[in-house]
Amino acid sequence: CLVVSPLIALIKDQVEQLKRRGIPALAIYSGMSFLEVKKTLQNAVHGNFKFLYVSPERLETKLFLEYLPAITINLIAVDEAHCVSQWGYDFRPPYLRIANLREQLPQVPVLALTASATKKVQDDICEKLQFTKNQQRFQQSFERPNLSYSVFNVPSKQNKLLEILQNVPGTAIVYCKSRKHTKDIADLLRMNRINADYYHAGLNNEERSAKQESWIQNKTRVIVCTNAFGMGIDKPNVRFVGHLDMPKSLEAYYQETGRAGRDGLPANAWLTYGLGDVIALRQMTANSEANPQFKKLESRKMDALLGFCETTLCRRHVLLTYFNEDHPKNCGNCDNCLNPVATWDGTVAAQKALSCVYRTGQRFGVKHLIDVLLGKNTEQVQRFYHHKTSTFGIGQEYNQNQWQSIYRQLIAANLLMVDMEGYGSLRLTEKSLPILRQQIGRASCRE
Ligand code: ZN
Repeated sequence: CLVVSPLIALIKDQVEQLKRRGIPALAIYSGMSFLEVKKTLQNAVHGNFKFLYVSPERLETKLFLEYLPAITINLIAVDEAHCVSQWGYDFRPPYLRIANLREQLPQVPVLALTASATKKVQDDICEKLQFTKNQQRFQQSFERPNLSYSVFNVPSKQNKLLEILQNVPGTAIVYCKSRKHTKDIADLLRMNRINADYYHAGLNNEERSAKQESWIQNKTRVIVCTNAFGMGIDKPNVRFVGHLDMPKSLEAYYQETGRAGRDGLPANAWLTYGLGDVIALRQMTANSEANPQFKKLESRKMDALLGFCETTLCRRHVLLTYFNEDHPKNCGNCDNCLNPVATWDGTVAAQKALSCVYRTGQRFGVKHLIDVLLGKNTEQVQRFYHHKTSTFGIGQEYNQNQWQSIYRQLIAANLLMVDMEGYGSLRLTEKSLPILRQQIGRASCRE
């Protein structure tokens, strides 16, 4: 079996596992010398090996192609097959070359495997890997009933994290966006006597494998990491996967949280987010240099992600619906099911918030807009004569935090757009006009 796999760590891990089970396996990946590769290929031709692992980059090297016809191959397996699709969450261009194997080995069946692909990604995998009409798809449910999903909107993410880790026993993974942040959070946890370490792609190979190994062997309890951590890790007893920053998409979220509770015992999937995250996410898509079609897809993914965060429905229902799976709306094991969210009629609040954006010329950020609504005579308010606008001081029934929450929900719902220049100023969208003109009945708001 020829296995195409995206990561050296993943390849090494699986080869080790096979060897432990007495199944002879070989691997070719970057970093090996010419002679090492040649020897491995000779072994593949003449030795009694069941598996040959190869990274996609190596598929088209001269040496590999020279030996390929001589190797007896009965199956081509493409691991992490979603990497072939740019609609997926981890597109790897060299994966597109895998299809060439079809020409070189026309009689050999191909098996593509992935743990998280939407319908669109599945179709794309079939197209890019040239599956014919006779293809067969085997799909398991995306449901992970033992995972409890929660999304928190809290003033201090770090305090919440500490609180949870001090109350929930067992191994944990905590995802952050920036490399620096991983170290800071790990330091904070250690200062609070929680056994933690950090991990990101900027560390050298030895450091990374030492940290990973220590965590796998339960010597480190909490690993604070970027999304560079986790692919191919199959540790059964992870009790908690936290996201301090937003994941890249719902697919990434599903994949990352899926590392919790593989032993089938109860586990927690936990995400914190706030106004800043929403603005950053919206800006990311606005600034993306991708082609229009891809940009549209990216922004649809952001909508889905923000929709998951803001929903008042069962989170499992929202997540499974995203993966085209039916689910009744009450799982009893997510924060919204366990503590139903109170909502209130936010129509007037939304009108005031949108109107303030309009009256101040659609070029200010949330902080200034809230100052105007609260009637604060700041230096900036004075400079732009915003104490003279009709929206000055009309929002005193809510405090700063409440207005932040209202703006967060308006941005998440695409009723406001974040500027492209990165200053965080807000503009109205087509969707916001009917609300401003009072053409809709009611805008429901999360408490
Ligand atoms: Zn639920």
